[in-house]
Amino acid sequence: MFCTQCGFKLEDSDLFCAQCGKPARPDAPPRAQPARKQLSRPVYRKKIAGVCAGFADYFDVDVTLIRILWLILALVWGFGFVAYVVAWIAMPKDFSQPPAGAY
Ligand SMILES: [Zn+2]
Repeated sequence: MFCTQCGFKLEDSDLFCAQCGKPARPDAPPRAQPARKQLSRPVYRKKIAGVCAGFADYFDVDVTLIRILWLILALVWGFGFVAYVVAWIAMPKDFSQPPAGAY
């Protein structure tokens, strides 16, 4: 069996062409596209600059957890302050609106 798109040789067990990613069978399930996350600062959720909310979104954890961790970092090593300012500068603003009914 060969790929109908690029001609790459496929094994019978292949669901997708290893060369171009085209489904090898008509009944192949659509390949899940992982949602690309971008580290950004959601403006509508920000307390200071939205850095903590951005990290919370990125790592899919509670923003409170991030704030506590960041506070600990800041208090214990002073690292958090520097990291916050760096992230503030480096992270793009996210001007998306909050979902209806949230916040
Ligand atoms: Zn192919």
